[in-house]
Amino acid sequence: LIRNADTAMYHAKRFGRDHHRLYHDSMTFEAHNLMSKSSGLKKALRNQELFVQYQPQYDSFTGEIYGAEALVRWNHPEKGVLLPGEFLDVAEQTGAIVDIDNYVFDIVFNDLISLHSQNLVPSNFSLSVNFSGRKLLSENLLDHLKKCHDQAPEVASSIILELTERDMLTKLDQCEGFINQIKQFGFKVAVDDFGTGYSSLAILKHLPVDILKLDRSFISGLGFNTADYVIVDSILTIARGLQLSAIAEGVETSQQLEVLKTLGCEIAQGYYLSYPISLNELKTIIAEKSPS
Ligand code: C2E
Ligand code: CA
Ligand code: CA
Ligand code: CA
Repeated sequence: LIRNADTAMYHAKRFGRDHHRLYHDSMTFEAHNLMSKSSGLKKALRNQELFVQYQPQYDSFTGEIYGAEALVRWNHPEKGVLLPGEFLDVAEQTGAIVDIDNYVFDIVFNDLISLHSQNLVPSNFSLSVNFSGRKLLSENLLDHLKKCHDQAPEVASSIILELTERDMLTKLDQCEGFINQIKQFGFKVAVDDFGTGYSSLAILKHLPVDILKLDRSFISGLGFNTADYVIVDSILTIARGLQLSAIAEGVETSQQLEVLKTLGCEIAQGYYLSYPISLNELKTIIAEKSPS
């Protein structure tokens, strides 16, 4: 806020006070925008305007369903459905991300309980949930995960928590203890956006993760870009050596999928295979594409 006040002074000097009368004397447009968006988000949570879509993940070789990633959306009363890119930055800045991630996690946990109770879950099926690094230090989260595990251990073991490589790297020390704990509660841990950071390999050396999600930026050039080919090949070799699973994200063409198969990548996710869909649509796909 202090920084915002400074910016406001700067704007006031540069553009004159009148420019700001619309909002508040000491408030910049950005600060005002942030505040209205963040109070909108709080209301959105209260009014249950946030919902989840699932993007299916498939076995590259057999086409069987492996699982799905939960992606949050905001059904905004005026603007229609908003994607995370339009509101998660603000949520990160205000801390609302913690509540959003909790909310999404609970939806996914309950959806998985309902899939289990309807006998719709193929063996080894999993649902992935994204978690912002802000929560890594939260005791609340650990308590919550433990409660979920105690309530339904078989459901916990079908959930993958995705943490971005960037968030893991900024808190490498605390992250190790955190990951060990959540694994004790049965959850699996994936490194999201793997390979995009400046010290991706440090994660492999220091953190007991289960799954690498190969970032879309390396998948996009498969079929014509030699660097992408070599990088993906190398990451898959490392994953095999460390007995980690690998998931390719952002697969958009049949050619990319073919190259991934040649390189031995087991699991793929992307628009070529399926867009994010509703839980009901996911159920239909599970019924059709389960291992028999
Ligand atoms: P991500 O975790 O890397 O998720 C993949 C994003 O890529 C999703 O965008 C998905 O719709 C999109 N995508 C999937 N396949 C393709 C493809 O073939 N091509 C292209 N161009 N894009 C593809 P979305 O849903 O807009 O989410 C954006 C980001 O927002 C996610 O990136 C994730 O970092 C974050 N996010 C989403 N839901 C949550 C959440 O509940 N909590 C937190 N903390 N972050 C979330
Ligand atoms: Ca993700
Ligand atoms: Ca990702
Ligand atoms: Ca990504």
